[in-house]
Amino acid sequence: MQHGPLRNAYLDALGIDRWVRRDAPVEAAIEAPAAAAPEVAEAVDPKPQPVPVQARVREPLGPITDWGVLRERVAGCTACDLCKTRTQTVFGVGDTQADWLIIGEAPGGEEDRQGEPFVGRAGQLLNAMLLAIGLPRESVFIANILKCRPPGNRDPRPEEVSNCLPFLAAQIALLKPKIILAVGRIAAQNLLATDAPLARLRGKLHHFGEANTPLVITYHPAYLLRAPADKRKAWDDLKFARATYQRLVTN
Ligand code: SF4
Repeated sequence: MQHGPLRNAYLDALGIDRWVRRDAPVEAAIEAPAAAAPEVAEAVDPKPQPVPVQARVREPLGPITDWGVLRERVAGCTACDLCKTRTQTVFGVGDTQADWLIIGEAPGGEEDRQGEPFVGRAGQLLNAMLLAIGLPRESVFIANILKCRPPGNRDPRPEEVSNCLPFLAAQIALLKPKIILAVGRIAAQNLLATDAPLARLRGKLHHFGEANTPLVITYHPAYLLRAPADKRKAWDDLKFARATYQRLVTN
């Protein structure tokens, strides 16, 4: 797909007005130039530092070679207090052969009820964002840093993250994604083991884990619902992620 139609589909899906020069010909009005949304500089970390996931968790999970076993381990987990307040665990959803792994923060109320990540309005927006770069929801795998809902949707606590990260690490080991898209500050900071603000993490190519999987950061769709002006920056991030992926699969 070309940038113009793709950008327009994204802007339409996300409800953003297109910017078109008043004197632009009709064709240009249909395929508005991307000048209003400058490309993100494809800055690359000079020396990607893999994050030693197992070093950050209390009890390593051990090797798990089967999705069913992993799913059962998550469903029965009582490693942190979130097991007391959850309706059910939210394992993750999607194609277990996917090239793309989308990682969010934690289940919200609707996710806790339905047992699936990114449902409701934020989920619909995530679906639209993914579709804008040619990725139907079913073609990716979607998971969260935490598998259980923090009460009141508060931020995950460090001990909850350290207890739950081995499950995500096991999902990554099974999936072997070609690229990870982390949505939101909590996912980004925990995957990169940093306190840096999201603004400093966007627009760069990071790498995650022992496999050095390319990792791109963007906004959480729930944030974009509250701050629609940043949808244009999210579009830059998505284009950057898509270009990174295309480089990977063509090299
Ligand atoms: S949040 Fe993770 S570590 Fe805590 S109980 Fe749920 S599955 Fe277990």
